[in-house]
Amino acid sequence: MIPTEVIERKRDGGTLSADDLRAFLQAYLDERVPDYQMSALLMAVYFEGLDRAETDVLVRAMLESGASLDLSRVPGPCIDKHSTGGVGDKVSLALAPLVASSGVYVPMMSGRGLGHTTGTLDKLEAIPGFRTDLGLDEFVDIVARVGCAMIGQTSEIAPLDRRLYALRDVTGTVPAVPLIVASIMSKKLAEDLDGLVLDVKVGDGAFLPDEEDALALARLMVAIGAERGLTTRALVTAMDRPLGIAVGNGLETVEAIACLRGDGPEDLRELVLALAAEMVLLADPGSDGEAAAARVRTALDGGDALEVFARLVEAQGGDPAVVDDPLRLATAPHREEVRSEADGTVVRVMTRRLGEGVVRLGGGRQRVDQAIDPGVGFEVSARPGAEISAGDLIGVVHARDAEDGRAGARLLRESVAIGERGSEAPLRPLISHRIGGDALESV
Ligand code: URA
Repeated sequence: MIPTEVIERKRDGGTLSADDLRAFLQAYLDERVPDYQMSALLMAVYFEGLDRAETDVLVRAMLESGASLDLSRVPGPCIDKHSTGGVGDKVSLALAPLVASSGVYVPMMSGRGLGHTTGTLDKLEAIPGFRTDLGLDEFVDIVARVGCAMIGQTSEIAPLDRRLYALRDVTGTVPAVPLIVASIMSKKLAEDLDGLVLDVKVGDGAFLPDEEDALALARLMVAIGAERGLTTRALVTAMDRPLGIAVGNGLETVEAIACLRGDGPEDLRELVLALAAEMVLLADPGSDGEAAAARVRTALDGGDALEVFARLVEAQGGDPAVVDDPLRLATAPHREEVRSEADGTVVRVMTRRLGEGVVRLGGGRQRVDQAIDPGVGFEVSARPGAEISAGDLIGVVHARDAEDGRAGARLLRESVAIGERGSEAPLRPLISHRIGGDALESV
């Protein structure tokens, strides 16, 4: 295998043989292919794609580059959920304890911020003391004891994905169906789960804004799961506006805690409950959809999920008092309110732009090794379709200083498009499709 020939073949739209692709990936792992050649191949894949056989080789190489999790000590079914990434997507923080409090174990392996999206690990680390770098033994112990635990991908699990994930983040090669499929499914297959629920985002704030691409992504991940004995369901969900109001790590953690209290934005609650019901259904296939929905609603509204969250925070070294006093989370010193200058209807919230704004405020990474500021971000109170008057609050910027605050305020104002009163504000349904097995259902 000659690396430049592999890159050129893909660049020119050719198909890579299994042997060549495997050899290229192995050479990268062994440091015989450098980052710049891997980056070139990733960019070629971004433009030319991978066919199904090539994608399978990539999934397998990532999976086999590391170990598998041993969940045999956990005394019940283990189900995880993974999102393809969005803006304001703090679902995992509320979902894992909710599902655990409904009697299903959740070994959740999450990511850091990627591109314009924030990551679950960065949100959890906004809690003072919270450790996401547990060893696998400690992770499994906490899952067995508390019902859920949340860590990052360790160096043992799919290390090839870990390296490619960091490289894609800084080379503009995240939004490619086969790369996302392989990245997510290799990690999830290595967890040796009993079931997997995927939240596939679609819309301007998703990596794949187009519905056709999102559906292709969802179908392929469900099919790969099925072929490898991992029952997988996917919900295709809206990312044409931020999920909830908070966008930015610590702010999102506060909102997830509000959701666990039974408060917080309605769209967040609805999505958390829907995903939780899917996870409970996978763990207990004999149950029906309505019973699963009732079970998770009771766990949320009865306070059980919040209690599990507090235990999870404590087990992972964090300060459980954040549950009652979210002000203990990292906050940014400067706040700037942004108000509408016009009367009208909010026709659009430019979601990706807000995600990029969080990165610029210091809440995301522009380089692999960058530390992030957990306190910065936006509260976006303007919702598409809302009637608004001059002087009404559009949102609040949380920044490190006044200069960042002003830049953030400009960005927030430009991200909220206000049309004439009565204008249409077309919005995707929060949950548009449910995909499982061969079935594609519009919901
Ligand atoms: N989440 C992942 O784990 N990988 C991706 O490529 C995108 C979202």
